[in-house]
Amino acid sequence: MPTLFTRIVNREIPAKIVYEDDQCLAFEDIAPKAPTHVLLIPKKEIASLNSLAAEDAALLGHMMLVVQKLARDLGVAEGGYRLIANTGADGGQTVDHLHFHLLGGRALDWPPG
Ligand code: AMP
Repeated sequence: MPTLFTRIVNREIPAKIVYEDDQCLAFEDIAPKAPTHVLLIPKKEIASLNSLAAEDAALLGHMMLVVQKLARDLGVAEGGYRLIANTGADGGQTVDHLHFHLLGGRALDWPPG
């Protein structure tokens, strides 16, 4: 059973895609919590940070460089932004497909709730 986010990768569910390459996809969050709120996911189905394996190291490194590019392209690099990977129940994870929230465009509170 493909995850919700794999179905977005496969264009079975519509999304506003802002970046794609052979390894990852970024799209606008359907319920944005800031003026800029995109989700960056690996195309590989990895349930969460807890499921990462050593073989995923290059993929994750690549994704961090994509974050840098996205922040620049979305216009939040200079003002600042936050990258979040909610993990597990206490972390508030609701979709079991690894994803990074990139939030920006306003001053973000700290600590989160
Ligand atoms: P999390 O709670 O960290 O697992 O984040 C899941 C995120 O996915 C939430 O911010 C949701 O708003 C977002 N989301 C759920 N369904 C969709 C969808 N179809 N398109 C875009 N974002 C979605």
